[in-house]
Amino acid sequence: MYRRSKTLIPLGVLFLFSCATRPTQDYKETSTGRFTLIRYQYSSREITNACNESIARTTKRLDSIGHLKTHERTLENSLLAFEKIIADFGDETNLLTFMGYVSTDEQIRKEAAQCEEAIGQVLVSIFTRRDLYEVLRHVKTQTPEQGRLHSETLKFFEQNGLKLSEEKLAQVKNLKQRIAILETRFSANLNNDTSTIDLTEAELVGVPREFLGRFKKTAEGKFLVTTKSTDYEQIIENAINPETRKKMLFAYTNRQAQENTKILEEAILLRQQIAHLMGFNTWVDYKTWGRMAPDAKSVDHFLSGLVQKLKSRSQQDLAKLLHFKNELEKVQGHPPTPVEQWDTGYLAYQLRKRDYKLDDEKIREYFPSDVVMKGLFEVYSTLLGVQFVEVENANVWAPTVKLYKILDQKNQSLMAYFYTDMIPRPGKYGHAAAFTLVSGRQTSQGYSLPISAIVSNFNPPTENKPSLLNHDEVKTLFHEFGHIMHQTLTKAPYASLSGSNVAQDFVEAPSQMLENWVWSPEVLAKLSGHYTDPEKKLPPQLLNQIVAARDFNEGLSYMRQLMLALFDYKCHSSEGPVDVTRLYDSTFERLMGIKPIAGGHFAASFGHLMGGYDAGYYGYLWSQVYAQDMFSEFERVGILNSQEGLKYRKIILEKGNMIQPLKLVEEFLGRPSNNLAFYKKLKIQ
Ligand SMILES: [Zn+2]
Repeated sequence: MYRRSKTLIPLGVLFLFSCATRPTQDYKETSTGRFTLIRYQYSSREITNACNESIARTTKRLDSIGHLKTHERTLENSLLAFEKIIADFGDETNLLTFMGYVSTDEQIRKEAAQCEEAIGQVLVSIFTRRDLYEVLRHVKTQTPEQGRLHSETLKFFEQNGLKLSEEKLAQVKNLKQRIAILETRFSANLNNDTSTIDLTEAELVGVPREFLGRFKKTAEGKFLVTTKSTDYEQIIENAINPETRKKMLFAYTNRQAQENTKILEEAILLRQQIAHLMGFNTWVDYKTWGRMAPDAKSVDHFLSGLVQKLKSRSQQDLAKLLHFKNELEKVQGHPPTPVEQWDTGYLAYQLRKRDYKLDDEKIREYFPSDVVMKGLFEVYSTLLGVQFVEVENANVWAPTVKLYKILDQKNQSLMAYFYTDMIPRPGKYGHAAAFTLVSGRQTSQGYSLPISAIVSNFNPPTENKPSLLNHDEVKTLFHEFGHIMHQTLTKAPYASLSGSNVAQDFVEAPSQMLENWVWSPEVLAKLSGHYTDPEKKLPPQLLNQIVAARDFNEGLSYMRQLMLALFDYKCHSSEGPVDVTRLYDSTFERLMGIKPIAGGHFAASFGHLMGGYDAGYYGYLWSQVYAQDMFSEFERVGILNSQEGLKYRKIILEKGNMIQPLKLVEEFLGRPSNNLAFYKKLKIQ
């Protein structure tokens, strides 16, 4: 449930990457007869050279726009040419930088990360160029579409200080370039983090036996447990010994603690300086410029209001966990103790298991990843009028990666491609995300085909079992696939406005809306099938239990989302140096009602704040207002209603950022939007 490609959301420039000088209809077959859509093998220095060449070529092409004399300027050779050059640049470099997240070759990952760092710099340089701005500013457009492109393009420049004096502009540029470097380092540090803890068999009591088989052993015969999310979750939810969970949580919240804390704190200070130079009080005020939320005050108002409304629900959840903990302690003859941070995951998971008879390991048996994917494709096909076909014999960067094409159901025309890369590997991006590799745009040869990739880290197959998902992972898949559809079903003419290049506080609406589907019995039947016999669907009893447990602990879960959003908000609305560790700890304690682990450094691995969601984390909750409002329409007419699905595809997915999100939502709804469905979901008033 994470983000689009980080490369693509640098520095509030919004990103402008896209597709299509690539002739997308004729990808090559190699001499082996295998189909190659994108390249993933590079020799040493090749990525670096390709990256540098692309930067040089782009700069040269932009110069020719910057040098245009007044009488030479036309719409074609200025605004439209600019859009095309930036889109081409995106095509060329996205494919390089993506390798930093997924390549199996360490050298390639390293060069790709360096390329990403360089591109961050170049984008700042481009969008702070006075000559380009002056040319583009005077363009006369002819159609509403061109008008939208014009105003959005100028906005990118103006967000980088083009309305400032030369001196201030130069300062903004320097600051942004420094932040771009810091952001890339922060994320590369985490991708390459290899921190582990070792635990004895006795310390691991409670963790499923077959899971233990996946751990490497140390020389002393202990189990070597990584801090990747799959290992982390297993320990935190299952290890009976609280000391084991504490050890795990400590290691997890101390990934890159020293280095990344320093990086984040520096970035926050630099962001403050930029906001001031730009005439804003805070970074949140600056970043909300052009978003759905008009300013920092409205974000604060939204978040604080929700805290008040959610308080009693989250306190009730916490009281339940405490009661359960004390019950367990009583059985063991221990005196009652308060809930600690390393207890919440365990208590919630075990209590859910007890009260709803929900056992993830049982549930997993019914959700083998290939069955889930097949069902997911069926649901999305029905809904959106498309078909997904696996490309056999595709050349891919790792053995478990698959390539699919998307066809229009009506006329079988090819619309887009996407990859799935679901299994963890050393050095691979550690969360779930949907990456735009090539975004859609209109070209003289027709509409250029978007290419995306869905990357996640589900349990790998074992000797006896395929990769098996729990229900939460199925939900994550629906979320990320909601992004993939937004990215690939776009028909927006301009790359910078196509796909999920929408306002940051709207981008999570399509993905979060689709999460609702995984609670429908009808849909769950399609998604499930026992790994020993796919015909055996999720038994009604298990299904009812999953649905019954839906709201379990949701008060605390939403409070955690609010806590993270408020932490982000405070980091970016404070004045002067921010001690992010202290700020996080105090925000955590105040909202969650328990003490954070002593010596933890959560902020050091909070990738959102250095990956384009700075002053933007609130967007998850903000978007959800619209996600739930749109979902209420599907609820009304049926969640597999093709007519409604097609309407959604046409209005929301195809338009991208060609029209303001609120207008799109209201066109889809046929009425003004409201927060009733959102409140209903949160069970608040
Ligand atoms: Zn998302």
